[in-house]
Amino acid sequence: MSGVALFSCRACGHVWQFRRAMCPACAATDIAVVEAKGGGTVWSATSVHRAPTPDLDVAGGYGIALVTLDEGPRIMARAPTDLVIGERVTVRAENGLPTIFRA
Ligand SMILES: [Zn+2]
Repeated sequence: MSGVALFSCRACGHVWQFRRAMCPACAATDIAVVEAKGGGTVWSATSVHRAPTPDLDVAGGYGIALVTLDEGPRIMARAPTDLVIGERVTVRAENGLPTIFRA
């Protein structure tokens, strides 16, 4: 399992990333916590070369990407710096943050 938490509406099946009191699709309040299976497709990717904090200041920069998970939500995650849009990847929580690995 990926360790990436998602939320699912028991009324309509809509799935999203961040906790909400009600479903953003149908306003139902019967919400389940589910774990992303980890599969996804790169929607956008970039490299960051000016770190906002010292812990992110690594030689060669670091990657950030938006990944559309197989469950539907598009999430931001740490990534390799050379991902290609459309590439199949695996996402799992590492040090509490969604992180992308090559599938
Ligand atoms: Zn719903």
